[in-house]
Amino acid sequence: MVDLTAYTPHFPVEGETVLGSNLRIGPGGKGNNQATAAARAGGNVKMIARMGKDVLGNVITEHYKNEGLSTEYITVSDSTDTGCALIEVDEQSGQNRIIVMKNANNEITKAHVHGAESEFADCDIFLTQLETSIESVSAGIHLAKKYGKTVILNPAPFQDIPDDLFSHIDYITPNETEAEFFTGIPVKTQADAQKAADALIKKGVKNVVITLGKLGAFYTNGTTSLLVAPPTVKAVDTTGAGDAFNGGLAVALAEGADIESALKFANATAAISVTNKGAATAAPKRKETEMLVTEFYK
Ligand code: ADP
Repeated sequence: MVDLTAYTPHFPVEGETVLGSNLRIGPGGKGNNQATAAARAGGNVKMIARMGKDVLGNVITEHYKNEGLSTEYITVSDSTDTGCALIEVDEQSGQNRIIVMKNANNEITKAHVHGAESEFADCDIFLTQLETSIESVSAGIHLAKKYGKTVILNPAPFQDIPDDLFSHIDYITPNETEAEFFTGIPVKTQADAQKAADALIKKGVKNVVITLGKLGAFYTNGTTSLLVAPPTVKAVDTTGAGDAFNGGLAVALAEGADIESALKFANATAAISVTNKGAATAAPKRKETEMLVTEFYK
């Protein structure tokens, strides 16, 4: 996915034209943002993805090269465009509004996923989100479980998933809005997060992490619960905060960190990312994250 991001003094209301300050065209997309964050955090990342034969595809190819990300399992569509997102960022608050077009991402099939089967056998963690076809998400989750691997599902952008998938998910990581979509419980406070997380545990998920923006991350496995606050930072652009969080979480869990340490690492990864503009390229390198973890959580 490529992000087309407009920075604006305020969000336009219906029919209004606002004079923005800048348009940024850069690599984005949840899968790519998470892969980049995980790689920068020190993970050895293999991504399964698909793009179009268009000018936006060049933006992504260039990004993979710059980041040293493997392109072994990236296929190119003849018939569809590269996925893209139109993003508006309010310069005052750093908040965003996004329209996503999945395009080639939606063409990822079970066969594409199975083409990477040897990686599933070798990996520690399978991390996925819902910006590709449900067929590919489901195939990946089942393949990871075939090899007894840990599955993290970041259920974003929200869409319904088959009921039988929940019991194969080791960690589900919705934000407040996604947690509400899945459970019908509005999530504003820690108590709401506990209720929504309990509802997800009842669906069969083993561990639930609800990200709560600047309040941090709420965790439960049905018996133990904890809330871990993120380091205090000045948010400039919150696009991709959840993605940086998931990339950091995946690496920490792959390295065998306990859940509290993993949440601290994920929070610090995401907190640094909101101080930078953009999404994929806003993720910090491991050293920077480790320094913030030591400084803030000492
Ligand atoms: P999403 O980007 O999916 O909407 P959140 O807004 O919940 O996700 O943010 C994900 C994570 O990013 C949070 O759990 C937190 O670690 C970090 N984060 C988000 N906003 C801030 C902020 N203003 N200050 C510090 N950390 C933040």
